[in-house]
Amino acid sequence: MLINVIEIFKSKIKLLEPFKISLGILDYAENVIVRITTDNGLVGIGECSPFRTINGESMDTGFIVAQYLGNVLIGENPLAIEECVTMMNKVIYGNTSIKSAFDMALYDIASQYANLPLYKFLGGNNSTQIITDYTISIDRPEKMADDAIKIRDKGFKIIKVKLGGTRGDDIERIKRIRTQIGYDIPLRIDANQGWDCRTAVEVLKDLEPYKIQHCEEPIPRWDFMNLPFVKKNSPIPIMADESCCDHHDAARLIGLDACHRFNIKLGKSSGIFNALKNY
Ligand SMILES: [Mg+2]
Repeated sequence: MLINVIEIFKSKIKLLEPFKISLGILDYAENVIVRITTDNGLVGIGECSPFRTINGESMDTGFIVAQYLGNVLIGENPLAIEECVTMMNKVIYGNTSIKSAFDMALYDIASQYANLPLYKFLGGNNSTQIITDYTISIDRPEKMADDAIKIRDKGFKIIKVKLGGTRGDDIERIKRIRTQIGYDIPLRIDANQGWDCRTAVEVLKDLEPYKIQHCEEPIPRWDFMNLPFVKKNSPIPIMADESCCDHHDAARLIGLDACHRFNIKLGKSSGIFNALKNY
């Protein structure tokens, strides 16, 4: 089986509400879709949602880089996923988001060829129920508290709150949200690199009474050498997100004892193949 045709599409969809984090605002979901067709008629589809300030990629750069990646994959065996991933990495460094769309399309083909749903193809047994959260954008504390009520009323069981502003504002945000929704719904927070090391420890200590599950990426991703200090002094577990793109980053953070948890995203790891890797 060989890859016959690769098609790339831009997909721009206006969000109902702007998505605001400490790193910037998104008004549109600007994604890239990859469709790979094989010579025996299988079609695999992958999609990525590059975030400029996180991936260093946009829909437009992804569309261009996808042409480079597509050129080397044409005529290759789609089931040789490791080889395809290696070839993509030889074409260009980084660009993990658009690479993940190709990786996803290849896994789509591989699992169809094996006549298995993807979870079975990956060795899963579908026995774990995963409960997702809904994110509150960073905003005025009153607006965020109102959003929390709306999200709860829609039936979401966990809420994630974007922080990463000033210490006073961030405490006020969580205080208002807890006042509105009580303590039954688990809250997790994400500073998206918005605090410096000292502020992070202060805010996390201040937030201890508000029953927070964990805090994502409290300090800048480049400052990971200071993350162990934050972890050691925080009463709230630390989850690495932007500082943990792939298995190499994960190994480094474990070696430093820098965090309790990882946020694994296909757009950071270049796809499923790397996301599954361990040391
Ligand atoms: Mg995050």
